[in-house]
Amino acid sequence: MDTRLTRLDLKNFLPAVLDLVLPRVCVVCGRPLLPQEEHLCLECLSDLPETRYATLGHNPMADRFNAKIRVDEYEPYAYAAALYHYRADAGYKKISQALKYHRDFGTGRWAARRLGARLAASPLFADVDLVVPVPLHWTRRRARGYNQAAVIAREVAEALEARFSAHLLRRNRRTRSQTRLSGGDKDRNVSGAFSMRKAAGNPAAGHILLIDDVFTTGATLAACHRALRTAYGPQVRISVATLGVVGE
Ligand SMILES: [Zn+2]
Repeated sequence: MDTRLTRLDLKNFLPAVLDLVLPRVCVVCGRPLLPQEEHLCLECLSDLPETRYATLGHNPMADRFNAKIRVDEYEPYAYAAALYHYRADAGYKKISQALKYHRDFGTGRWAARRLGARLAASPLFADVDLVVPVPLHWTRRRARGYNQAAVIAREVAEALEARFSAHLLRRNRRTRSQTRLSGGDKDRNVSGAFSMRKAAGNPAAGHILLIDDVFTTGATLAACHRALRTAYGPQVRISVATLGVVGE
């Protein structure tokens, strides 16, 4: 038998067998994936509700975030972007949930690279030189084994050719899960929860990008923004980006 043919067959055969033993399914709709599909089936991928916010200086997410951080007139208007609309009634929320709750790093990194590509293609974000994830409290990180925001931030930093700093910010206390709190309670829950980590120094930066997995009210990101502002003056731009955005 022609050995080249055998090798070629094995290359296609093994993934096909693996698909039978451990069927790969679409993260969004749960249907088995075709061999050429990854993470999402082609149908769900083509319907992915992308926001296009990366190219819009003013968008609903940025307006909501700026309403939280504009404590005085010296705070410049911040840019904010998400990859897709996190709709509670659609399966797309499962993309960020796959990373946060199910250790699905493949899907998480895939979505993060897609976010990174959108940001890198936008003149608003192309000059980002430092990418910082929202930190978890150390007890929670130890329990989960990883910080999902850091997984996303690392991919985004690579796409933007920016530095990545997982340890610039620290979460000083365990906060209650934001999921079931009302808007005002969310602000109070995370207010003052973050600070600059002294040992990290203040790395030079012109444009810092804060990363979280999902933007809901923006309370957590606003609290991180406040902590960064204690170390960086208004000449340093601080923007935010997430995989999903709840609401408009
Ligand atoms: Zn699907």
